[in-house]
Amino acid sequence: MKIKYLGTAAAEGWPGIFCHCPACEQARRLGGKNIRRRPQALINDDMMVDINCDNYSTSLDYGIDLSKIAYWPITHSHMDHFVLWDFAMRGAAFAHNLTVPVLNLYANRSVCDNFQYLSGKYFEKEVLEHLRCNYAEPFVPFTAGDYRITPLLARHMDHEQCYIYMIQQGEKSILYAHDTGIFPQETFRYLDSLRGSLVLDLVSLDCTSGPNKEVDSHMGFAENRLIKRRLQEMGLTDPHTKYVISHFSHNCGLLHEELEAAVRGDGFIVAYDGMEMEV
Ligand SMILES: [Zn+2]
Ligand SMILES: [Zn+2]
Ligand SMILES: [Zn+2]
Repeated sequence: MKIKYLGTAAAEGWPGIFCHCPACEQARRLGGKNIRRRPQALINDDMMVDINCDNYSTSLDYGIDLSKIAYWPITHSHMDHFVLWDFAMRGAAFAHNLTVPVLNLYANRSVCDNFQYLSGKYFEKEVLEHLRCNYAEPFVPFTAGDYRITPLLARHMDHEQCYIYMIQQGEKSILYAHDTGIFPQETFRYLDSLRGSLVLDLVSLDCTSGPNKEVDSHMGFAENRLIKRRLQEMGLTDPHTKYVISHFSHNCGLLHEELEAAVRGDGFIVAYDGMEMEV
C-alpha cells in the first residue's frame, strides 16, 4: 500500500495564509520542504483522505487523476479536512467520462448532514447520482473495494465525533491519526482488542504542536512518543513499523530540518508535501 502526503500543515498552511511570523517568513524565503499545504493524503491511486481548498492545485502539482478516486474517507468537518464544493464539479457539464462511476465518501454524522444539506441544495441532480456520502460508525469496520477501513474516535472536538482511520489492504495496515490529542480511552481499548492479530505497518501522527505543550485536541513530540510507547506495549507495532509525524502548525516554530533534528532519536519520519511511502 502506498501513501502520499499532499499537505502536511495545520489549517492555516505554512506559511500561514495571512501570517508574517518569523517561522512563516523563513518558510517563504527558504521554500522547498518548508512550504506546507492543508492536510490531505492519497492512498494508492484510488483513495483520498480528506478534502480542502488545496485539493485542485495539489492534484495538478502531483499529476493526480482525481476521477480515479473511488473511496474518500473524511475525518471531520474542520475546513482543512472537509470542503465539499469540488465535488459539485464531478459530473454533468463539468466532468465527462468519469473513470469511477460512483464516488463513495465515508464520514461522521456532522459531515454527512452537511453534505446532504448543501449538496441537495446546490449540486446538480446528475452530479448527485454519482456521489454517495456514507455514514461510518465508530469502531465498526467497513469494506471499500479491497480495503477494510475502521473509524476510531479522535480526541478533537466536543460537539462532533472526529475520526482517525485504520486502513487495511491485504496484509498491510496504516493508522492515520491526525487532528487528535492523545487517543480517548475507547480508542485505546479498541486497539488493545487487536493485540496479537495485527501489526501496523505505518502510524501517521498529528504533530501540530511540535516541541510545544499540547493543546488537548492535537499532539506534539511528547504525545507522539507516548502513543508510540502505548502501541508498542500493545504489540501493535514492531521494529519494521514506520512512524510519520505531520499536520504541523507554524506556531511550533521549527522548519523542516529542525523538526528532523528534534525527533531523530525517536525514529519519527517528518512528513513533507509530496512525500510518498510504500508499506
Ligand atoms: Zn486539521
Ligand atoms: Zn506564521
Ligand atoms: Zn480539526
